[in-house]
Amino acid sequence: MAKSIPRVGFGYDIHRLTAGRPLVLGGLHIESDRGLLGHSDGDAVLHALADAIFGAIGSGDIGDHFPDTARETEGIDSREIVRAAVDEAAALGYKVRSADVTILAERPKLGPLKADIRQSLVDLLNLPPDAVSVKARTNEGLGPVGQQQAIACYVVAVVA
Ligand code: MG
Repeated sequence: MAKSIPRVGFGYDIHRLTAGRPLVLGGLHIESDRGLLGHSDGDAVLHALADAIFGAIGSGDIGDHFPDTARETEGIDSREIVRAAVDEAAALGYKVRSADVTILAERPKLGPLKADIRQSLVDLLNLPPDAVSVKARTNEGLGPVGQQQAIACYVVAVVA
C-alpha cells in the first residue's frame, strides 16, 4: 500500500581514494588506477543513497544498520545495503519514487559515465529512467575532492 504523503530523505558520503582498490560508484565498476577505501566496497554513491532512503523513513543512518566494525559485512557489495534500505521502506509501506544524485569527483572524469551510473541505479531501484538523475561535478580543485584525495556524493530521495 503506497503512502499518500511523499517523504524526502537526504544522504551524503565521502570516501578516500587509494591505490589498489577497485572503483565502484552507483554499483558500476569503473576503470581507474585508484578506488575508494572503505569497510564495504567503498561505493560512496550507494551509501549516500541508502542514507537518503533511511532518512526518508526515519530509520537512522547507514552506520546503525551496517556498522563498519561488523566482520560479516566486510567488503560487502553496497547494493545489498541499498536493498536493505528499500526493503525496510517497503515494510513501512513506502516505495522509492525518485533519486537525485550529485557526485563530486575530480578524477576519473565522470561526465562520460553518468548515463551508465544512472542505468545502474535505475536497475537497482527498479525505477523508470526519468525518476533517477545523476549529475557529475568536479570540486574546482578545492578541498580533498578537488585534490583528488576523495570522491563525495549527495543524494535526495523521495519515498511514497
Ligand atoms: Mg560510506
